[in-house]
Amino acid sequence: MPEERVAILLFFAVDKLYDYAVPAKMMLTVGDIVQVPFGHRTMYGVVWQQGQTDSALTRIKYITDILPLPSFRLPLLQFIKWVADYTLQPLGAVLQLVARDPSVLLGHSEEKVLSCEGNLPKKFAITQPRKRVLSSIAKGVFNSVTDLSEDANVSASVITSMIKCGVIKIEHTAIKDLFETPDTGRRHLILEKEQAIAAKALCELLKTKFSVSLLEGVTGSGKTEVYFEPLAAALDEGKQVLVLVPEITLTIQWFNRFRERFGCVPAIWHSNLSKKTRKQTWLAIANGDARVVIGARSALFLPYANLGLIIVDEEHDSSFKQEDGVIYNARDMSVVRGRAESASVVLVSATPSLETLTNVASGKYKHSILKQRVGTSVLPKIALIDMLKNPPIRGDWGKSWLSPPLVSSIDEALAHGDQSLLFLNRRGYAPLTLCAQCGYRVECNNCSAWLVQHGAARYLQCHHCGSKSSPLLECPSCNAKETMVACGPGIERIAEEVKARWPEANIVIADSESLSKDQAVRQLVEKISSGATDIIIGTQILAKGHHFPNLTLVGVIDADIGLSSWDLRASERTHQLLHQVSGRAGREEKAGSVLIQTREVQNPVMQSLVMLDSRSFVELEKQSRQILKMPPFGRLVSIIVSGKKEESVVKVVNDLSHISPIIAGVEFLGPAPAFISMLRGKYRYRLLVRGPQNYLLQNDIRRWVGKIVVPSSVKIQIDVDPYNFY
Ligand SMILES: [Zn+2]
Ligand SMILES: [Zn+2]
Repeated sequence: MPEERVAILLFFAVDKLYDYAVPAKMMLTVGDIVQVPFGHRTMYGVVWQQGQTDSALTRIKYITDILPLPSFRLPLLQFIKWVADYTLQPLGAVLQLVARDPSVLLGHSEEKVLSCEGNLPKKFAITQPRKRVLSSIAKGVFNSVTDLSEDANVSASVITSMIKCGVIKIEHTAIKDLFETPDTGRRHLILEKEQAIAAKALCELLKTKFSVSLLEGVTGSGKTEVYFEPLAAALDEGKQVLVLVPEITLTIQWFNRFRERFGCVPAIWHSNLSKKTRKQTWLAIANGDARVVIGARSALFLPYANLGLIIVDEEHDSSFKQEDGVIYNARDMSVVRGRAESASVVLVSATPSLETLTNVASGKYKHSILKQRVGTSVLPKIALIDMLKNPPIRGDWGKSWLSPPLVSSIDEALAHGDQSLLFLNRRGYAPLTLCAQCGYRVECNNCSAWLVQHGAARYLQCHHCGSKSSPLLECPSCNAKETMVACGPGIERIAEEVKARWPEANIVIADSESLSKDQAVRQLVEKISSGATDIIIGTQILAKGHHFPNLTLVGVIDADIGLSSWDLRASERTHQLLHQVSGRAGREEKAGSVLIQTREVQNPVMQSLVMLDSRSFVELEKQSRQILKMPPFGRLVSIIVSGKKEESVVKVVNDLSHISPIIAGVEFLGPAPAFISMLRGKYRYRLLVRGPQNYLLQNDIRRWVGKIVVPSSVKIQIDVDPYNFY
């Protein structure tokens, strides 16, 4: 009789399973993490399914070891498969999102204790060796598998098998101490009526097997306190909770609220954790010791022991879309994970995405609404400043970007000792440098994009590839000297004007450069909250979630920036961003006001903001997408072909286009050079596939793209449900 075979999915970006033979005494189940020989290397993989017994015996190698790590549970394996199928990415690449290399999770840096809780699973066969292990562990304390196996006089594999089926646990004592158990019984803020109703509805849904809800609430309505209630309820049921946020460094005020409510901090997951913390957190999540995890999108792929609730805060935020490697949308995939785990999913936003609102309208998602701000605070008054009628007046410092009405409002705020926030979603000093004599525009050498001038250091930088260069003293085109001029404002240029106008004022600049570290964010948030700042000049980094009690005036420098974009969600994103930033004004007793500088006063985005009427904007946007059969009323898949040699790229993209399949209702648009036709020195061409809402394009696309022979110098990137159209 042939030996048992299993199919292994390696932690390696391939779309293939490999069969291995199981050594006679090794007991394996699906989800176990094993070590295998692969060519001349040692690799790791997950037992995926039964192997095929008919493959030639001689070619089969044996599994060499089982790693003493908790097995991956079936819901996680299902999730990996679903994501790979949907995003058209290799199965192994999705597995690597769970753990890039499981061997780094081993090692003995911490004190560990082997323990047995006594409840044996029903199917657990008590053999003589296992009996000896159980009696040993009942008597003594063991810090390693070797210690225990010597004491019980059994082989190490007996203990490893008991670890992987959960009878024996490895308690990493140091790790356990790191992750405190949240105290759900602490005294906390009493919710207002509207909040209490929403919280109750969300708690009720925890009792169902799987549900998705939208928690929609105006800025300042206390959405976080509302979702803390189902969070506490899930913990009381012994479940784990995941809170996904767009940018973890910006959540300092969230941590304070969590600590007040639960008396500890949750586990944190993002890409910049130290190796050690990463390992400890991963293990604590897999063991179930980390009860609440807050993380960026990658936290969705962790091996939770018992996940009961997923909260996606700021669900509309486009940074939930992963754009490199395995391209996925963490908001959408959280619903898939929730279904696999039979968990509840709560999507939270003041400005929900059209996708989510459509699912609410069709009854797929439940809906809770908070219409009022908590306490005495009211929503700010929003007014538009028509820049065609109120052009800024030039000053001693040069060109001006602040219109007279905005200038006098800032004067007034300063006179009252209140804070102002000037918002411009553009880093640097000026987005473009050109020659005043011949009109030459300074572009990046590697990308088809303008170089952005950065004022303080006086350098030029490409915001796509990051390359820097020194400013030009001479025009490369007409050779004229000192004719290069900065065009348009970035926040540094606004700061220059503000300093010239109000030299006494205390000013801070907040952008992703100045706030790349946790500590910088904490210091800035404390400084602003303490009232030591008069004027804040910032990009979208400050638009979300923050609560600054003294901030009463928000000035939007250029509301039209996002509207001219080629992106199908340009209006929706502009609306969401301006709504968010407006929501920073007047969050306590003092009333807030928002002034929006625009050249498009009649634009529906601007009108809906002034009327505080998001619904009518959403309706309009919905209609236009319906007419255009664009998401969420159609499906898009974007295919970018790129490479250093333009002719090879063009050949591949043309070959693809020539053999595109004919499917009723599905259109193949392109090929055409991408909007950014060169990026980091590579030519880029794009094809766009558009299909009906009720038809999944994946199988057709997989077959179609699979027919093309692609030279190694050319890369095909498939983006299902694209958010970026550059
Ligand atoms: Zn010139
Ligand atoms: Zn560049």
